[in-house]
Amino acid sequence: MSTIANNLVKIQQSIPDNVTLVAVSKTKPVEDLQEAYNAGQRIFGENKIQEMVEKYDVLPKDIKWHMIGHLQSNKVKYMAHFVDLIHGVDKFSTLKEINKQAKKHNRVINCLLQAKIAKEDTKFGLSFNDIEGILSSEEIKELENIKVVGFMGMATFTENQQQLQEEFLSLKNFFDAQKLDTNTTSCNLDILSMGMSGDYLLAIENGSTMVRVGSSIFGHRNYNY
Ligand SMILES: *Cc1c(COP(=O)(O)O)cnc(C)c1O
Repeated sequence: MSTIANNLVKIQQSIPDNVTLVAVSKTKPVEDLQEAYNAGQRIFGENKIQEMVEKYDVLPKDIKWHMIGHLQSNKVKYMAHFVDLIHGVDKFSTLKEINKQAKKHNRVINCLLQAKIAKEDTKFGLSFNDIEGILSSEEIKELENIKVVGFMGMATFTENQQQLQEEFLSLKNFFDAQKLDTNTTSCNLDILSMGMSGDYLLAIENGSTMVRVGSSIFGHRNYNY
């Protein structure tokens, strides 16, 4: 078995059935994605729209493509015909743009709102207050071609397990509260995307239903994105 297939099997075995594994393939060549595909993986995460489009064009069409990176609104149009889930929405104006582009293709695009949970201030994301504001707004009800299906969070880059746990739990608790509160056609909270190679098991213990794992599957990336 190839190294990639081997890594995938190990990770799949370590996560419960109700948790979805997104294989984060940014910077990796299509040959590596094909290997993961041959081993059964069907969900891939990329953080650059252009790179994702190039890979989409040449790889099998039953792959589900997740955009996990920070979004530039002017590029949403390039992926609107195929993207399966957009994780990193951190502005209402971006939701509007996704809605507009999805409509052109007669699609409803699922989105996650990115919450700021890290104590570092370099990370993108919305405050819990901002998210509440968006979900309870009248405007969101007019967006018929998007659906907010959950939240995404990135914890601080730290080894401190207690801090990581606090950050994950804060989002899990907020998610549970919002789930009870929110029910409109443009919103159905179901997915909590938290956890990467270094912290996915802890994230799952603290309520994650979707993990985004890159280097533990494909090996270290050659350059930093
Ligand atoms: C790169 C990336 C990951 C995967 O990181 P690894 O540490 O390689 O598992 C997960 N989420 C986001 C948003 C990323 O940009």
